[in-house]
Amino acid sequence: MKTISSPLLSLFSDITALFTTRHGGVSKPPFTTANLAFHVGDDPRDVLDNHDMLAKFSGYDRTKLIHMRQIHSDRIVLIDERINFDTPPECDALITNRPYTPLMVMSADCTPILVYDPVQRVIGAIHAGRAGALNAILPKTIERMGETFGSKIEDIRISMGPSIHGCCYEINGQIGAEVKEKGYSEALRKEGERLFLDVNTVLRQQLDALNLPQEHLEVIAACPACKSDTYFSYRADRQHTGRIAGVIFLR
Ligand SMILES: [Zn+2]
Repeated sequence: MKTISSPLLSLFSDITALFTTRHGGVSKPPFTTANLAFHVGDDPRDVLDNHDMLAKFSGYDRTKLIHMRQIHSDRIVLIDERINFDTPPECDALITNRPYTPLMVMSADCTPILVYDPVQRVIGAIHAGRAGALNAILPKTIERMGETFGSKIEDIRISMGPSIHGCCYEINGQIGAEVKEKGYSEALRKEGERLFLDVNTVLRQQLDALNLPQEHLEVIAACPACKSDTYFSYRADRQHTGRIAGVIFLR
């Protein structure tokens, strides 16, 4: 499995945090090769093989991994014993303080976000596309970590993985108006008649509003639509494609 580790989160020796690329798996076109999603039409045996390889490479038990049926919502799930690999909850954020319980977020253009609070030892994995970001899934997850585990904003570290940038994410005027109305004009870019959105700018603005220390945030890796040779991109691959993932676990 070809992965990229988070420089920010790698500073902590009691967690593992990484993002996958499309390389190093066994899936066939158009899912070549490291697709991790079961719902996109790929051969489930290949997907399971990819999961097993990633687990072995990363040092966790694949059956302990929790992934999500992502629905572009603001629904957050706290891990309990009823949830396992075969019963992914319908949500867009997972949080836990359980060791060796890897959390996974999948994406192809949307922003995969990994969160760590080294003081309370709590981790999170968040799926933030345009809808999720505009519904404040990121600040809501941080709020839930505070309510449930006593996490404080000044302790939290956040890594945003490979996600479509303002260079490639073209939107229509109606969405543009909604973005503006919600106070995120800074995330919009005009190019003649065309309008582009940078979701990470929305997310960054939300973190600024919470006073997250700037050095506790990183945005790693390039835009998948620009680099579809390295990552799956829903837009660049014309929707029929696989999913990369962000994975985090406490040791
Ligand atoms: Zn791009």
